[in-house]
Amino acid sequence: MSPDFDVAIIGMGPAGACLANWLGAYGLSVLVIERDTEIYPLPRAVHFDGEVMRVFETLGLREQIEAISRPGQVGMHFNNADGETLLIRAGSSANGPHGCANNHYFHQPELEAVLRDALRRYPHVQVRLGHEVQDVVDGANSATLHLLELASGRRLETQARYVVGCDGARSLVRKIIDSPMLDLGLHQPWLVFDVRLKAPLPGLPEYTVQHCDPARPMTYCNVTGNRRRWEIMLMPGDDPEALVQPKTLWSLVSRWVHPEDAELERAAIYTFHSVIAQTWRRGHLFLAGDAAHQTPPFLGQGMCAGIRDAANLAWKLHAVLRGQASDALLDSYGTERLPHVQAFIELAVKLGDIIQTTDPQAAQERDARFRCGQPEIFHFPTPRLGPGCWHNPENSSGQVFPQPVLADGRLMDSALGLGFGLLVTRSLWDQVDEAACRAWNQSGVTVLDDRHPALADVLRAQGVQAVLVRPDRYVAGVANDPAQLQGLWPLLSQALSPVH
Ligand SMILES: Cc1cc2nc3c(=O)[nH]c(=O)nc-3n(C[C@H](O)[C@H](O)[C@H](O)COP(=O)(O)OP(=O)(O)OC[C@H]3O[C@@H](n4cnc5c(N)ncnc54)[C@H](O)[C@@H]3O)c2cc1C
Repeated sequence: MSPDFDVAIIGMGPAGACLANWLGAYGLSVLVIERDTEIYPLPRAVHFDGEVMRVFETLGLREQIEAISRPGQVGMHFNNADGETLLIRAGSSANGPHGCANNHYFHQPELEAVLRDALRRYPHVQVRLGHEVQDVVDGANSATLHLLELASGRRLETQARYVVGCDGARSLVRKIIDSPMLDLGLHQPWLVFDVRLKAPLPGLPEYTVQHCDPARPMTYCNVTGNRRRWEIMLMPGDDPEALVQPKTLWSLVSRWVHPEDAELERAAIYTFHSVIAQTWRRGHLFLAGDAAHQTPPFLGQGMCAGIRDAANLAWKLHAVLRGQASDALLDSYGTERLPHVQAFIELAVKLGDIIQTTDPQAAQERDARFRCGQPEIFHFPTPRLGPGCWHNPENSSGQVFPQPVLADGRLMDSALGLGFGLLVTRSLWDQVDEAACRAWNQSGVTVLDDRHPALADVLRAQGVQAVLVRPDRYVAGVANDPAQLQGLWPLLSQALSPVH
């Protein structure tokens, strides 16, 4: 008996909704099960990066996401306890390597609403809200999900060939997979205080401010519209219950805002964790998003990592479910993603150590370093994937490929769609024999050559004649001559050859 669905996704936060959109675009049958009947209404993530905007663009949602977000044109200031600005990380709304601004600010419930509405495009994606998955039992060819409809108490059972646990930090699927956790050491409670301004407050800057005050580190952020956030570190001796009382809350931010200026949207204490599941797959079960990893928010990367998970896993599930790749391709999901997300979390932990300094002497030393300029640590990481469906760590393989604008004004990804792309100089393509050219053209890979000047520039900058780009826009391999180009086939056939 064939299972009811190709893929069941447990949890419809940003990771689950994004994965459902991607699988929906591939035409797969998908069931999304979500315990809550409404989108989690309170603000959480406020920042995503250019690579994530590119994923939304691939899903046909860039315009909608741009309408509810703003590019991070104004940057971040690091101030000392006296309010002196020590360091400025400039922002910019100009297009970066991904064909959009490098940083974007948003209100998470609005973004989730866009992702959910977009699922209406796919009748083969079914959404069951108000249903809780209570157990998942893996079998030989599929997994069985045991669901409870919360309003009626009705129990249901359904089968899916693969199950992805996008079920958040307290993931049931992670427990079932029985994954050990790597603990990267940071577990710090912070008070998150979100307000909506009643009118513009001239004293509040447009840019983000890290208040590096050893007596009480804080972050201020202009989110979007009239939304503003303060993240306030809990200090030894703080009573968490007393801290969230309105009087104490407002006194913490009284330097900048008072109750008559703004409406309190939420004040809650979160403990920021830094952990990564060590097993992302067991049998037909996978983890993605916060279920697989949690990071302190100092780089604004928790949700971003979940969106990258979805992009990495979606095309592999599609290739396997369509019989173009063997099930082994799916093992590369965890091996590729784990070291990548670890690089981000390690950096966030290091940043946290700097921002959270409470020792006055250490804070003075940090401030002196800040005054001297931009420390290396603030460079946005571009880690390579871990071992998987790409080869040769000597070049750009395993790294995300930029998105140039094509000669006709389109962005490169719109020409590549949801498939692989071969980006090649004409001088190399002219050396490829007719049979090989035909094979490339018939493989379903979109071939773009360097008559697009911006693409030619990227190939030149990377010092290569050809790049094979995967559907998630990571480089599978590069070539500089016809033999090396031929050598890319084994990589491609891992993902695109019919399996019998
Ligand atoms: C204060 C704060 C600031 C942050 N700032 C940023 C930022 O600036 N940038 C950034 O990228 N990230 C940020 N994050 C992190 C970001 O919010 C999370 O990483 C993101 O929401 C995780 O998405 P997810 O889809 O993996 O999980 P979630 O959003 O947690 O969604 C999981 C879903 O699964 C459902 N579920 C769970 N179990 C079951 C079950 N058994 N059956 C059915 N449904 C189930 C839940 O109801 C939930 O809807 C921040 C987080 C916080 C708290």
